[in-house]
Amino acid sequence: MQSSGRQAEAPGRGPRVLVVGGGIAGLGAAQRLCCHPAFPHLRVLEATARAGGRIRSERSFGGVVEVGAHWIHGPSQGNPVFQLAAKYGLLGEKALSEENQLIETGGHVGLPSVSYASSGGSVSPELVAEMARLFYSLIDQTREFLHAAEIPAPSVGEYLKKEIRQHMAGWTEEEETKRLKLAILNNLFNVECCVSGTHSMDLVALSPFGEYTVLPGLDCTFPGGYQGLTDRIMASLPKDVMVFNKPVKTIHWDGSFEEASAPGETFPVLVECEDGGCFPAHHVVVTVPLGFLKERLDTFFEPPLPTEKAEAIRKIGFGTNNKIFLEFEEPFWQPDCQHIQVVWRDTSPLEDTAPKLQDAWFKKLVGFWVLPSFGESPAPRAQECAEVPLAQCPIHPGLLQLRGRGQLRGRPGPAGPAPPCGRQGCPAPGPVCRGSHTPDVLLHHARSSAVRLEGG
Ligand SMILES: Cc1cc2nc3c(=O)[nH]c(=O)nc-3n(C[C@H](O)[C@H](O)[C@H](O)COP(=O)(O)OP(=O)(O)OC[C@H]3O[C@@H](n4cnc5c(N)ncnc54)[C@H](O)[C@@H]3O)c2cc1C
Repeated sequence: MQSSGRQAEAPGRGPRVLVVGGGIAGLGAAQRLCCHPAFPHLRVLEATARAGGRIRSERSFGGVVEVGAHWIHGPSQGNPVFQLAAKYGLLGEKALSEENQLIETGGHVGLPSVSYASSGGSVSPELVAEMARLFYSLIDQTREFLHAAEIPAPSVGEYLKKEIRQHMAGWTEEEETKRLKLAILNNLFNVECCVSGTHSMDLVALSPFGEYTVLPGLDCTFPGGYQGLTDRIMASLPKDVMVFNKPVKTIHWDGSFEEASAPGETFPVLVECEDGGCFPAHHVVVTVPLGFLKERLDTFFEPPLPTEKAEAIRKIGFGTNNKIFLEFEEPFWQPDCQHIQVVWRDTSPLEDTAPKLQDAWFKKLVGFWVLPSFGESPAPRAQECAEVPLAQCPIHPGLLQLRGRGQLRGRPGPAGPAPPCGRQGCPAPGPVCRGSHTPDVLLHHARSSAVRLEGG
């Protein structure tokens, strides 16, 4: 943020710059600024006691568990996160291989290792593959309307449903199989909601959906934890740059502020913290999450932001993805199993489940990702769900109901999965974040250009 008032900087010193927020965006900005000889007076004001924000790797299960971001999407040379991670030596051999970097996924999530239906029993992998082919061919079609003069539906969700109805007319199987196909498609809708950070694909506008570019490279993870990246960036900063436990209350800008220790010097910006502390500056880089900005827009900037910026903040969506970690005494899955899909029978993307979400939130869980076993300690699993406030993510009744209904039972474990003995929610919906990330494009978005905030 740069104020229009252009006060002179004190001779012999560069401008004072404040970065608000110590997530990867704030740390990245600070790292760049620190390298620049013109910016010697730099502070990063971080609300909490740690840096990294939505990137947080825990060792609660005796190994690395990603509470926030997990994957580098499109890990190839055009991806700055990949480049930085590679430079710091944080990636494994496979992720760094040219072969991995060349893989074109088209942004499609790979097939699960195994799918279970909520009535018990596994679902035919052929049927799952057939529905995935259909779903992703339709998703590919949605990208064709980028500059189209006419669009067949306002949202991605409505377009997909319309097309699915047409395909259904050609389905010749018995009713039971047709219902199962719809339930598999429903799971794929949920996956897409997770990817897009939205509760419903009906909220994602069709016409600009194709603006989102998928980089080549099969998604990869950090063997030692994603947080290694933000830790390394932070370690590269001079010692006194980070100021922790400094939640910013209001950014006064376009003014003329003085500081007792710098008589005669005036600053166009004054950053006021919750604890009463004030930091005058020439420039401020604001990297707080969109969810926080939405909630505090009326008081965070004084004077208020220009209408165009304020409207963009109001209208861009910010969805919630939560993760729940479950730990089992014995794995009940095959050693090579990576991803377990749960297909809830009698669910359908053609029905609006929103009113029932309070009672059936767990039906939005997209699946389980098996985490590696940590030496002697038990192997935990991770699962992720979309648009579920953490308070609604207790281990009872939803996850126990998953067990109770038997669809996770005994494959190939001795007598079914042992009770989950640990869990952990993600801090995403906390007071300094208010969500997880933004959908690619939101319906009724004020401007035509798409914005995606992943990776800051
Ligand atoms: C569960 C989950 C899974 C995800 N998975 C992936 C993934 O696999 N791959 C991927 O690329 N991305 C993923 N993301 C998104 C990714 O984590 C974020 O896009 C990225 O970390 C955002 O970085 P940031 O610096 O912009 O914001 P943040 O990391 O949110 O940092 C903002 C910082 O600002 C601080 N702050 C807030 N308010 C104030 C204030 N008033 N004063 C001072 N400081 C303040 C916060 O404490 C925080 O440290 C995921 C996110 C979540 C929540």
